[in-house]
Amino acid sequence: MDHFLYRDGALFAEDVAVSEIAAAVGTPFYVYSTATLTRHFRLFDDALDGLPHLVCFAMKSCSNLAVLKVLAGAGAGMDVVSGGEYLRARAVGVPGERIVFSGVGKTEEEMRLTLAGGIRQFNVESEPEMRRLSAVATAMGVVAPITVRVNPDVDAKTHAKIATGKSENKFGIPIARAREVYAMAAALPGLKIIGIDVHIGSQLTELAPFEAAYQKVAELTEVLRADGHEISRLDLGGGLGIPYTRSNDAPPLPTEYGDLIKRTVGHLGCEVEIEPGRLISGNAGLMVSKVVYVKEGADRQFLILDGAMNDLIRPAMYDAWHDIVPVIEPAPGAEQVAFDIVGPVCESGDTFAKGRLMPQLGEDALVAFRSAGAYGAVMASEYNSRPLIPEVLVHGDQFAVIRARPTFDEMLSRDTIPSWL
Ligand SMILES: *Cc1c(COP(=O)(O)O)cnc(C)c1O
Repeated sequence: MDHFLYRDGALFAEDVAVSEIAAAVGTPFYVYSTATLTRHFRLFDDALDGLPHLVCFAMKSCSNLAVLKVLAGAGAGMDVVSGGEYLRARAVGVPGERIVFSGVGKTEEEMRLTLAGGIRQFNVESEPEMRRLSAVATAMGVVAPITVRVNPDVDAKTHAKIATGKSENKFGIPIARAREVYAMAAALPGLKIIGIDVHIGSQLTELAPFEAAYQKVAELTEVLRADGHEISRLDLGGGLGIPYTRSNDAPPLPTEYGDLIKRTVGHLGCEVEIEPGRLISGNAGLMVSKVVYVKEGADRQFLILDGAMNDLIRPAMYDAWHDIVPVIEPAPGAEQVAFDIVGPVCESGDTFAKGRLMPQLGEDALVAFRSAGAYGAVMASEYNSRPLIPEVLVHGDQFAVIRARPTFDEMLSRDTIPSWL
């Protein structure tokens, strides 16, 4: 459930008409619902009730400071994958002890930044990273708390670009080598082992791969404890999928996921962390765009929007399906037309949907892409010199621009022409 509903024939974001935001900020733009963000965070938090736990929002899915502040205020920790994301978490007041640092390529600068500022743990992904982190921590006179990300060789049954838990993926260390790698970590002076980390992929629509992975983590916990390691924290990653269409099978609920966690690792006495991104932010955001032209092709109609692949890359990158709905509610039984819905960028990949049934729309009609809150604004670029589109946050009957559209002057002023030209 989200808070983007038709009311009196027009699409609303909570208690604000989407058309009112469009008139104020221009199109295209992203809009997020505070109520949906907090509701989704609470679903996870409640699902782990009874276990010591921390829900760390994977901010790579949606990292605007205002969104982070909403979630931090609700009690979320943060999962970060770069120094920049760490600074975002700190900028909204999240203390280091509620920030976990994931990612396969942490640099020395990032290690120093986060060790100096305070960090809950590093989720370490390789032996070279382990040696580097130990050296950096030792030089700073501190000890880095770590988990090791294990790759359980489980098929997440999701899109190849977001599956991370198979042995051919670049992530983690093979679970079969875990004992050897933990022994090596224990011997490094700058590290303190505190647990195990696993993350098998994104947009999982079944529980079975999680179950298989978490069972392997539970077994490994016992084995590593028997080897004398402290395993007091399990980071179980993110990845629970969301419904992108209203017709397809609903992905598992956070409560079912929580029950699965309790069933597989609940007996181990560990503190549990999870790192959901998409399930918190995905359905909390829309991208709103305007029809520039309706073009008659040889055998189809094209709906040419002012939004493009540089603003929302998921359809081009992951073959993603987004519900696209008119901002003015179609009359019941209104005739449907098949459109190819495209943006203005000079690539055929700039296609949001093919043969999509919509009521007949004309120039200047507004449409909303649903489920655009995750991996939307954060993956936007200025390809074709199109300015990054604004982000707006709604809270009840209020809305605010939380990132303004840059002016063309601002965009041009970022380039420098060398003196010899
Ligand atoms: C991307 C990622 C997440 C979040 O994934 P979602 O599918 O958005 O929940 C969590 N943890 C790690 C390590 C990730 O790389």
